Amino acid sequence: MFKTGVYFIPMKIYQAVVISVFSTLLIAAIWMGLPTQAEYIPAYALNSKVVVIDPGHGGCDPGATRGAYVEKEVTLQVSQLLAQRLSEAGAMVVMLRTDDSDLVDDGFKGTIAARKREDLKRRAQRANEVKADLYVSIHTNADSSPRWSGAQVFYNSSSQPSKLAAVMIQEEITKQLGNTKRKALPGDYFILRNTKMPAVIVEVGFISNPQEASLLADPDYQARMAQAIFAGIAQAQLRTYNAEIENYPGW
Ligand SMILES: [Zn+2]
Repeated sequence: MFKTGVYFIPMKIYQAVVISVFSTLLIAAIWMGLPTQAEYIPAYALNSKVVVIDPGHGGCDPGATRGAYVEKEVTLQVSQLLAQRLSEAGAMVVMLRTDDSDLVDDGFKGTIAARKREDLKRRAQRANEVKADLYVSIHTNADSSPRWSGAQVFYNSSSQPSKLAAVMIQEEITKQLGNTKRKALPGDYFILRNTKMPAVIVEVGFISNPQEASLLADPDYQARMAQAIFAGIAQAQLRTYNAEIENYPGW
């Protein structure tokens, strides 16, 4: 006959069960707390490289605006996140603006258009002065129709390293954001013509597309965009680095 009532589990089994349950929970908690496996980005070639980041517009020049969405705000936010990622990888980052201002002196007398020209001239000058290895301009695109979307990178067609950086950045944006099939394109822009180092303009998306505008204002999306641009820069720099090693005399 079995006695009804309380059954006693031997102490050793009880301890083993408690320990295994707690350790399983602990491992699960640690695992869930870890960031999801990020793709390894070989960023060592960025070490000590001077990268100029130019957050487009600023001050009295808001760039493109649609309702509450303002280009100069998006460009600064994405640029700051990009600067952080590049600095962590050992690059020396020069931000052309860190607040809501342009690069023109307060006392400047002239039309808005003249001020804008002066501002762009100073941005190129500053990049040339610090002898940057790479210049990255961040903008948002805009069109009169709301239907267009997708980030796109532009480069100076006469510069092969600019093209490499643009293609790699575009590739990473396409891969990581998964919402554009656009290709990097040559672009005839003042800033690309007047900077003496490899230079690209990253249009991070269309502020004129309501869905994309709300993504562009979202800090998580901004961080993913910055991460993709960073990965593209790292990939381009790595290829340059490997080519330099291959061509090094005596190797
Ligand atoms: Zn712009």
